[in-house]
Amino acid sequence: MAQQTILVAGGAGYIGSHTVRLLHREGYKVVILDNLVYGHKEAVVDEGVELVIGAVGDKPLLQELFKKHQFAAVIHFAAYAYVGESVTDPLKYYRNNTAEPLTLLEVMQEFECKSFVFSSTCATYGEPQKLPLTEDHPQNPVSPYGKSKLMVEWILEDCDTAWGLKSASLRYFNASGCSTDGLIGEDHNPETHLIPLVLMAIRGEIPQLTVFGTDYPTEDGTCIRDYIHVEDLATAHVAALRNLVDGGDTVRCNLGTGVGISVKEIIESAEEVTGQKVPVVYGERRPGDPAQLVADPKMAKEVLGWEAERKDVRSMIETAWTWMNGPKGGHYGE
Ligand code: UDP
Repeated sequence: MAQQTILVAGGAGYIGSHTVRLLHREGYKVVILDNLVYGHKEAVVDEGVELVIGAVGDKPLLQELFKKHQFAAVIHFAAYAYVGESVTDPLKYYRNNTAEPLTLLEVMQEFECKSFVFSSTCATYGEPQKLPLTEDHPQNPVSPYGKSKLMVEWILEDCDTAWGLKSASLRYFNASGCSTDGLIGEDHNPETHLIPLVLMAIRGEIPQLTVFGTDYPTEDGTCIRDYIHVEDLATAHVAALRNLVDGGDTVRCNLGTGVGISVKEIIESAEEVTGQKVPVVYGERRPGDPAQLVADPKMAKEVLGWEAERKDVRSMIETAWTWMNGPKGGHYGE
């Protein structure tokens, strides 16, 4: 079969860069479009992967790219993902996460490219009414971030009805871990995610970890999340892409392990992996944090033939620790 070319918007970001490496290994030609606001040039490590610096809202640039390449599909990661910032600056999120992709979709329609893999989120469900979360759970997102993503899910459905766009909306749970070879990893600025913060506290990069809330209705009083290894997310994207390109229908599915882990369990596991104590203080709840978010991962298995290989959070902490102690020290240089 002829080599397929895939446009990866946001391919220099955390989840995007891990997916790009897998696509490259699987023999796809990859063109990344990334504005490098949160992405990193250094996260693009494979020879032959083209990085175009630009925005998904730049129509002339997109038209030029679609003219040059016959894209078999688009994977769209490019988005802002700070839930707290989305509350204080909602327009930034609606502009970037909801409005900008319209341009990308318009150009896809113009060039008759009809396969789209979309980074959605478990934040589209809002406060869980029942656990584990199945895809038919009501979607009542609490934050503008969650709403900005849900609106794209709706837009994709309407594009399917109108011009046959087939899409996979992948609702991520808590992406974590780094590449097994330690070459690329997670580098957010500012960092707000639990696992890197726990490890940064061990390394002395931050004075301590604050646990947000110890009075939740969970066994140990701390929040429970479903942590999923970023390389498992990458395999899910490739499975979703294959499914669409092979004529599969539009899907919306959870990407999680189905295993719930508490904040305290993450801390204990990090102490086991590193052999060092995490300096911890116990603080107030963070507004908007549900007590538990755990995926029912069955649909992804049924529809995409995918399930997470790494269900043990240890492997996520180990790879994150390797990245932090690697040559880049957990931070890209630029
Ligand atoms: N958390 C915490 N302290 C921190 C950062 C996060 O206790 O400094 C908790 C947070 O309340 C949540 C879990 O860790 O229960 C995962 O948070 P993260 O921000 O990594 O992901 P989210 O679940 O918000 O997408």
